[in-house]
Amino acid sequence: MPRTPISLSTLRSAHLAATYKGTNVILYQGDITLLDTHAIVNAANNSLLGGGGVDGAIHRAAGKELLRECRTLGGCSTGKAKSAEGYNLFAKKVILTAGPKYWEFSPQRAKELLEGCYLESLREAKRLGSHSISFPCISAGVYGYPGKEAAKVACESIKKFIETENNGIIKDVVFCVFEESDKTYYESALRAAFQAS
Ligand code: ADP
Repeated sequence: MPRTPISLSTLRSAHLAATYKGTNVILYQGDITLLDTHAIVNAANNSLLGGGGVDGAIHRAAGKELLRECRTLGGCSTGKAKSAEGYNLFAKKVILTAGPKYWEFSPQRAKELLEGCYLESLREAKRLGSHSISFPCISAGVYGYPGKEAAKVACESIKKFIETENNGIIKDVVFCVFEESDKTYYESALRAAFQAS
């Protein structure tokens, strides 16, 4: 079946949640591999050599070349980010980040590491000149981060980056949720982060 991209203009017109200091914050429910933002973020593991969940979906859609490039990247520490080309994806770049496995850290350390994933991914996107970026719910799948807390960390991290480091470079940030429960958590976290300010 042909894959139809979800364009940035559709994301902006139908899924905009907030505009904060000139950056559009968008909430979309569906498959991140269809999003036509300049970069998409992969919730990868430390090896960067592929896995299940969103990682598997991104590798399947990007094709074997992504794995080939990932083999040259030397892995990724938890809370950090690296990048690769998008290959057969609609996105031009894949930013690979390794989220914390929730059970391996104290809640405070897990939060710092998850915040690191968002901030380091945004820094990498800025370095690449990406004006638009899509995030999955990092660590909120098999890595076990409680969904409601993960949504808060995601929204607060993006807000912090927009306030302190963005300098108007990234114009669109998409939170691409997959599960209905995550959609609800993000709606509430977005309201708290962006509509109260
Ligand atoms: P992690 O190991 O970081 O927890 P997972 O891939 O297990 O990563 O899950 C991260 C999130 O990605 C989960 O909320 C899961 O529902 C979601 N997800 C799975 N497939 C996709 C997809 N194709 N597009 C967007 N999100 C997805």
